[in-house]
Amino acid sequence: MDWRTRLLDATPQSRRDYRSLATPVYRGSTVVFDQQSDVSDDWQQDKNGYSYGLYGTPTTLELASRIARLEQAHHTFIVPGGQAAIALVYFAYCKAGTHALVPYSAYGPNKEMAEGLLRGLNIDVEPYDPLIGAEISDLIKDNTTLIWCESPGSVTMEIQDIPAIVAAAHDKGVKVALDNTYSAGVFFDAFAHGVDVSMQALTKYIGGHSDLLLGSVSVNDEHAYNAMGEVYRQLGLAVSPDDCSLALRGLQTLPVRLDHLETSTLKVAQWLEGQVGINCVFHPAFETCPGHEFWKRDFTGSTSVFSILFDDDVESEKVVTFINTLRLFHIGLSWGGVNSLAVVYPDVDRPGKDYGGRLVRLNVGLEATQDLIDDLHQALSAM
Ligand SMILES: *Cc1c(COP(=O)(O)O)cnc(C)c1O
Repeated sequence: MDWRTRLLDATPQSRRDYRSLATPVYRGSTVVFDQQSDVSDDWQQDKNGYSYGLYGTPTTLELASRIARLEQAHHTFIVPGGQAAIALVYFAYCKAGTHALVPYSAYGPNKEMAEGLLRGLNIDVEPYDPLIGAEISDLIKDNTTLIWCESPGSVTMEIQDIPAIVAAAHDKGVKVALDNTYSAGVFFDAFAHGVDVSMQALTKYIGGHSDLLLGSVSVNDEHAYNAMGEVYRQLGLAVSPDDCSLALRGLQTLPVRLDHLETSTLKVAQWLEGQVGINCVFHPAFETCPGHEFWKRDFTGSTSVFSILFDDDVESEKVVTFINTLRLFHIGLSWGGVNSLAVVYPDVDRPGKDYGGRLVRLNVGLEATQDLIDDLHQALSAM
C-alpha cells in the first residue's frame, strides 16, 4: 500500500487492554460496521450497540450512566446545555394544541422559550405561582400534558411542594418535569418524590469549574425513555466528548465541593442577614425563604446560590455601587464554579412584587469564607 493509504488505516495497532481510572475521551462521528446488514441509525446505543457519534461515544454514554446512577434514573440523555435539556423536555411532551404550566420563578430562558418558540408552534404555556401546591389542580385543563417545577426557583428561590404538585398532576394524567439544577441531582431526590423527568444544567455543579456547557435529562421509565429518545434523535442534540470528559472529572470531586460550598454559603448568608440595609436573605435553609418548610421536609442539603434583597429605601444605584465595588465576587451569570459571583437582577418579573433593582443573586465559590465576608463588608461600607 502507498504510504498515504497506510496512514489512513484505522485498525488499532497498539494493545487495547489499557485499564485506567480515567474515562478515555472517544471522539468520533462515523461508527464502522462489520458488514452491510449491521448498518443501523439507532439512538438506543446503550441497548443495541453503537451506530453513530451523534448519539454519543463511550465517553458520553459513561457520563450519562453516571448521572443516571446519581439520580437513580432509568436513563439519562446528555445534551449541549441546560437550555437544550429544557427544549428536549418541552418537545417530548408538548405539541400543537397542548397546554403546559411553568412557575413564575422558572429559569428566565425557559419562560422565553414558552413565550417565543412554543407560542409560535401553538403550544400554550401558562405561568403559575410556584407556591401554589395542590391547588395547581385548578389550573390543569383537558389539554394539559406537562407541568414544570423548579425548586428553588431562579433568583427568588421559592421552594415548591413537589409531592403535592405531582399528586395533582398524576391524578389527571399529567407529567411533571423538574429543573433539579440547584440540588445537583443530590440534595433533592426527584424520582423518590414522584417527578417523571429530572433535568440539570451540568454546566453548574457537575462541571463545577465554569469551563463547559452541558445538560442532562433523566427519565424513570421505558415509556419516557422512548418518547424522549425519539425527540433527542430528531433534534440532533450532540455533545462534545471532551466536555463530557470534563464533566466526568467534575463528578469525582462533587461531594467535597458540595460539602464545602454548603458550609461556606451558610456562613456568608448568615453574616449578610445581620447587616444594615439588607431586608431579606432568600436562602432555602432560612425560615425567611418562601417555601422553607418544603426544603426542610424534602431536601437533604443546600448549595451555593442565594439572593439578597436590599431595604426599600436603598436606591438601585447604590446596589450597583455595591456590585461594582466587590473584588472577590465577580460580576457574572451562571454559577456552581469555583469563583464567587454577584449580579443584580433589575427586572425580575413576579406578579405583585416590585424588587426595583434591589435584588442581588450571589454564588459562593471555593475562596476562604472570611475573605468573602471581608469583601462583602468593604462593598457594603462603600455603598
Ligand atoms: C443555568 C441554568 C439553566 C441553563 O443551563 P445552560 O447550561 O446555561 O444552558 C437551566 N436551569 C437553571 C435553573 C439554570 O440555573
